Amino acid sequence: MNRDCSYGDSIMIQRAWYLLCLTPALSVAVALSSQMASADKALDPIALLSEYVAVDTVNPPGNEANAVAFYARYLEAAGIDYEVGESAPGRSNIWARLEGGEQPGLMLLQHTDVVPADERFWTTPPLEAQVEAGYLIGRGVIDMKGTGIAQFLAFLALAQSELPLQRDVVFMATADEEAGGFYGVDWVIKNRPSAFEGIGFVLNEGGSGSLRAGEKVFAIEVTQKVPVWFRLSAEGMPGHGSYPRPTAAVTTLITALVDLNNQPFPIRVIPAVDRYFKGLGAGIDGQEGQDFMDLASAVKRPDFIQELHENHPALHALLRDTCSITMLKGSEKINVVPPIAEAEVDCRMLPDRPAEAFVKDFKERLGGAQIDVELIMAFSPAISDAESALVRSIERTLGNLYPSARFTFSVASGFTDSHFTRDLGIESYGFSPMLYRDGEASGVHGNNEAIHIERYQKAVADYQSVVEAFVLTDQ
Ligand SMILES: [Zn+2]
Repeated sequence: MNRDCSYGDSIMIQRAWYLLCLTPALSVAVALSSQMASADKALDPIALLSEYVAVDTVNPPGNEANAVAFYARYLEAAGIDYEVGESAPGRSNIWARLEGGEQPGLMLLQHTDVVPADERFWTTPPLEAQVEAGYLIGRGVIDMKGTGIAQFLAFLALAQSELPLQRDVVFMATADEEAGGFYGVDWVIKNRPSAFEGIGFVLNEGGSGSLRAGEKVFAIEVTQKVPVWFRLSAEGMPGHGSYPRPTAAVTTLITALVDLNNQPFPIRVIPAVDRYFKGLGAGIDGQEGQDFMDLASAVKRPDFIQELHENHPALHALLRDTCSITMLKGSEKINVVPPIAEAEVDCRMLPDRPAEAFVKDFKERLGGAQIDVELIMAFSPAISDAESALVRSIERTLGNLYPSARFTFSVASGFTDSHFTRDLGIESYGFSPMLYRDGEASGVHGNNEAIHIERYQKAVADYQSVVEAFVLTDQ
């Protein structure tokens, strides 16, 4: 068939023939298409996502057991066995496995919790999904209940197809990602390690598609900056605010923080970031595009760094280790000089060296002040393989559907649960084929989080294609 494999009319028409565009999974995929038709009618993605948005999993406190009950109900209806692990009262995780062949298994990983939403700043109730101007509005529709439902529908379709899988597929929905994942993925790894047995690949949140000037670009997230969080404290003689001494806990701390702030970490272009900027630059005209394509030269110009910092702070953050001074604590009373002053500092290091090396650099910047430095948390750095079988399969599948699309590998300035699975040696990718226009993701963690309905429906179908192609064919 020599028809352009891009989207046209209705979802059902596309579904029938996006599968025809899939090679080499042609025959199995077509067979699967007809078997899935009944499941599609029963579980409409928008209806299911709307129902899921109404499941209260706002973290804190989380209450992710509500999401576990939601998924358990549908898994039971489909006759699929599942396991639940309760990490704390009201905090639960759920997973289910479809057994397949000898190839390394694929895990579809999602977090079920969402960040709080302040109703006063929303035009609709955040936990009641509503349709407005072609968008579905509700907390979590992007981060990440939308992708969660796409994963679930792909998993159900595979289960109901009863076609032989070349590898195991695990559906896993976990708690607490928004607060660090310690009651979620981290807990499951430590307490139910068998859930990860035989898993070679994880698909999680992180990367997605973008639509800019008609061009489709799919970004697969392969690594992220590594959080290294510190608590700094200084001690000094307490006393009355009316007669300051030459030094005090607060002034010692402030002096050290100023030293830290005045010494930004040097610019450093690591290969994964260089590749990401090249991918971005290919879609940008003019000087900025040229600068992104030749980052090694551009970073030598102070004006480039300054403009990047002002206009694209998240991209600037990929060029150096950074620290944000976020919490300060001194006296409880205005006229009391406290015996101790504390600050918490959120540092993020590039993922190309051990955290210990960064900690050493950090301490050097405190200028030798009498500061106690406590390491609150540090993840280990890891970068997933940009040429793995899963990456090649995603590129092939979506490349057939969208022949003019480009693929890039992104580096996240924030972190997701993928660092936990990368630590296990599992190739983990942040990816969803959802195509966003500029600015559409601004509701994530903010107000009026909204997803474009028609493009979301396509993304659900495409997610299914991606998973099927990887699981049904021997690659
Ligand atoms: Zn998320």
